[in-house]
Amino acid sequence: MTANNGSTVQRIAMRIDGKDIVSESGRTYTSFNPFTGDGWAEVADGSEADVNAAVGAARKALGGEWAQYSAPARGRLLARLAQLIERDADILAELETRDSGKLLREMGGQVRSLPAWFTYFAGMADKVQGDVIPTDKANFLVYTRHEPVGVVAAITPWNSPLLLLTWKLAPALAAGCTIVVKPSEYTPASTVALARLVEEAGFPPGVVNVVTGQGPETGKALVAHPGIDKIAFTGSTETGRAVAAGAASTLARLTLELGGKSAQLVFEDADISAAADGVVAGVFAATGQTCMAGSRLVVHQSVADELVAAVVSRAQEIVLGDPRSPDTEMGPLANEAQYTKVLSHFDQARREGATVRCGGSTVAELGGFFVQPTVLTDLPPSATALHEEIFGPVLAVVTFDSEDEAIEIANSTEFGLAASVWTTDVRRAHRVASRVRAGSVWINAYRMVAPQVPFGGFGASGVGRENGIDAIKEYLETKAVWVELAGESRDPFTLG
Ligand code: NDP
Repeated sequence: MTANNGSTVQRIAMRIDGKDIVSESGRTYTSFNPFTGDGWAEVADGSEADVNAAVGAARKALGGEWAQYSAPARGRLLARLAQLIERDADILAELETRDSGKLLREMGGQVRSLPAWFTYFAGMADKVQGDVIPTDKANFLVYTRHEPVGVVAAITPWNSPLLLLTWKLAPALAAGCTIVVKPSEYTPASTVALARLVEEAGFPPGVVNVVTGQGPETGKALVAHPGIDKIAFTGSTETGRAVAAGAASTLARLTLELGGKSAQLVFEDADISAAADGVVAGVFAATGQTCMAGSRLVVHQSVADELVAAVVSRAQEIVLGDPRSPDTEMGPLANEAQYTKVLSHFDQARREGATVRCGGSTVAELGGFFVQPTVLTDLPPSATALHEEIFGPVLAVVTFDSEDEAIEIANSTEFGLAASVWTTDVRRAHRVASRVRAGSVWINAYRMVAPQVPFGGFGASGVGRENGIDAIKEYLETKAVWVELAGESRDPFTLG
């Protein structure tokens, strides 16, 4: 089998205990390039036995050489890893685009941002410190220690494989954990390449392991494995629920970054041109395949016509095409399942009475998994497009008359990942930001993230937070140590 450019299909092995592992079962599956449609890689299809081997390697590393690394030494390795990612950023971005069909300029930007995350957590490794706690027990010294939670299972989706892995890997390594990563079956290549850089940076074998394969088998086996102490998952809300149920059997610690139906709230005093740009960036960038997509436009009725006209006009100018071309603004959807799902949402919206202001179909001249940037208006409040995550370039518009109504609409889904407020009234901006139930609120902006800033969701959008100063605590256990200082004997039948 050959890829479009004539090169031989690549073989992607798992990485377990510092070695290439083809899969205990010998099975492989094909990873397709969503733009060319070619199968470009044959990937090891991990089985339960491979999961056992990876968890075993991670457990061995946890109690082995890795445990001897001091916190500053872990920080130095993370800083070295940041340099290696910087060196190989173009290679990693190319792998991500080939696997996911997302724009090379988007994936290039994401990969080039990763060193900032690794550097941030490198600096945090030796800032983790316990407290000496004053109590009324005069003869006791009491202090806390923060210890690595243990072996972490990191399960990631296809839409931003390395960025979302980094949000887990960097704090977990800074904390002293070991890791088994299960990337999406659609986008394994960049994760395996990163694991090799981890080893090149000097992390001992077994500290980071990668098991490739299909979620319902490999992912499920990993989630329910008794050797896993913590699960860090990013993906759909539906799979997140299955992961939480799996974690319940072992009582593994859990962070979940799940789906969204984020609202962009545009008030009558907003800068309409800036808001139009923000709405376009929020829902059409990355072909709408981002958890924080601003897929609902909640706009004051007095400016709705003007804003929708501006968004439609910009949407119709979006350049679709080869994700590797620097001129392309929107690539294809990432896989056939995603393509079928988005098309079914077009049909559903029409059935529910929506007016399709632009888009609403495939792109005949491009074929493949391309769909048009789409704007839907006149939706009834119960419309599916206003409540379900589509994960495609589809904007659902709804109007409001008052601030209270705008907030009620914004908070009317089960999700709570992100929101934006477009207004020139500073009091309203903060008032509305405080009343919207979402983990991130941008004022007169959209889609901003940084290593220093917590990210995560309210409600069905997730559990826990990634990034920011507290993220490392998700990978630590707190231990309280009581030291008897007086050498006195105590009544064995009383507490404390
Ligand atoms: P899925 O939920 O289908 O899959 C996510 C990961 O879980 C994949 O690695 C998948 O493997 C694995 N998986 C699937 N089934 C199981 C299982 N039973 N047990 C354990 N793991 C399993 O999401 P997608 O990959 O389709 O990604 C898109 C979704 O991710 C969107 O809904 C989006 O909202 C959400 N997302 C959320 C983000 C956030 O930060 N809140 C960020 C990015 C995306 P496999 O691919 O092999 O099936």
